Amino acid sequence: MTSESLTFIADAMLGKLARWLRILGYDVVYEPFISDDDLIARAIQESRIILTMDRKLTERKSAKNSLLIRSPYYREQLKQVIASYHVDYQSGIFTRCLLCNTLLDRIDKEQVKDKVPPYVYSTHDAFDICPQCNRLYWSGTHRAKMLETLEEILK
Ligand SMILES: [Zn+2]
Repeated sequence: MTSESLTFIADAMLGKLARWLRILGYDVVYEPFISDDDLIARAIQESRIILTMDRKLTERKSAKNSLLIRSPYYREQLKQVIASYHVDYQSGIFTRCLLCNTLLDRIDKEQVKDKVPPYVYSTHDAFDICPQCNRLYWSGTHRAKMLETLEEILK
């Protein structure tokens, strides 16, 4: 899967973009309170592409592997990232925790019985869990809405 070889670190301004890349399955570090120096150091250490709206940061020699995000709007931002790299927006979609960036595991339906609303339990068969923060995921209306938004973005 392409998304395993392409990893990112996003600056504090790009929370929504980071979330959207995680929706697509990409590994994106997003720590809003990280300093520029720490952000660059982590990018180098973990071979991550820096996504930033700070031109000065991208001009630093140590931040060579970076993309200067031009638009303040997340839809345009996502378009720019997709156009700039070989972003695969299909094979990894909905495989990563949006909160903590961890890959999800499939969990047996019986195990989530007391943890999701009864309506959700009775209308869905496939559930995923984040092994890090225990958040549960399923293909509900929120995912359908995300797919709609994604289609609009990619048009
Ligand atoms: Zn998580």
